[in-house]
Parts: sequence; structure tokens; C-alpha cells
Amino acid sequence: MSETVPVKEGSAVTQATLVKKAAPKSDYKPADVSPQRRVQRSFAVRLWSIRHSRLLEWFYSRFADAFLLLHPLWKGIGYGRVEAPIKFVEKRVKGFMFDCRMCGQCILSSTGMSCPMNCPKQLRNGPCGGVRANGNCEVEPDMPCVWVKAWEGSQNMVNSDKILTVQKPVDQSLRETSAWLRVTAQAAAASEAAAKPGTAA
Ligand code: SF4
Repeated sequence: MSETVPVKEGSAVTQATLVKKAAPKSDYKPADVSPQRRVQRSFAVRLWSIRHSRLLEWFYSRFADAFLLLHPLWKGIGYGRVEAPIKFVEKRVKGFMFDCRMCGQCILSSTGMSCPMNCPKQLRNGPCGGVRANGNCEVEPDMPCVWVKAWEGSQNMVNSDKILTVQKPVDQSLRETSAWLRVTAQAAAASEAAAKPGTAA
């Protein structure tokens, strides 16, 4: 709560104003000092990704193939050793594009490129019953519901039905790990198992 401090008779300023006035002056002015506008700007990139979900679906598919081709390299170096640098890149790229929270078990391709971990309730199967009439979140009224956006994004995608898949609860032990590497290692193990004699369908 801001304490009011009488300055001179007939006028009063808040403690916050005094602190602001006491701050050292400089020529530097941040481009955007409104927390709300900062948040909206991050929504803007997130929403761009959802609008371009089909393009990103195409790109991700090729990217996953390329990562799988590099499996011998990851295996040679050691998945444990490459985890830190890959995670560094993944966190920044997906953080910028999707506001990724590094849950480690990415389902963007099933959710129209809308990250479900941005849902304040962290629902992996949504939406909840609290979506506002304008399509925004009941907890964060200025934020478009991530599940409404997930539906919109998924409808642009080739695999638009994947959103109907019931997702497992988040495995918290996988937080802050690389989903890219996990998916690659799992795909490599599956293709090696399929290639073994006597295991073909
Ligand atoms: S689903 Fe998980 S890994 Fe994928 S963008 Fe969201 S937090 Fe990141």
C-alpha cells in the first residue's frame, strides 16, 4: 500500500512518487515500461505462431527428421553431454516463439502450436469451464485462453485431429529437460527396434 506523505499544505504525494523523483536521472528511457504491454507483446509472438501453425507444423516435421538423422552424432557424443547446449537453444527459441515453460514433454504439434503450460491451471486437456465470452482466460482476463487458441491453431494444421488425443498428466520430473532430444532418442529406439529381425509387423 502506498503511504501518503504531506509535502506542503493542501497537497500530498505518495511514497511511490517520492521514490520515483529520487531516482537518478539519465537519458536512457526504456522502450516499454508497462508490464501489461510487455505481456501483450509476448502474446503477440505466441499468437503469430498459432496463426502460422501449419507452416510451423511443416517446419517441425523436417526439423525432427534432421534431428533424428543426427542421432549417431548425439549417441557418439552422449545424449547426457549434449543435453545442456541443446536445452540452452531450445529454451530460448521456444521461449521466444511459444512462451515455452520447458515442461520437457512437448505437445505443441497436438495443440495448434499453443503451449498448454501457459494456461494458469496448466491443463493438458482443455479448456476448462471458465473461458470468458470474449475467448479470454478467467484467471488472466487480458490473455486469450490458450485452449481456445489451441483449437484455432489446430484447425489450420494437416493433423488437425491430434488435438482430440487425451494427453497424460505432466511428468514433473521431466521439467527443464530437452523435449527435442527425448523425442529424437525415442524415435531412434523405435526405428532400431523395428529394424531388428523378427520384430517387423
Ligand atoms: S508443451 Fe512443454 S516443451 Fe512444449 S512449448 Fe509448452 S512448455 Fe515448452
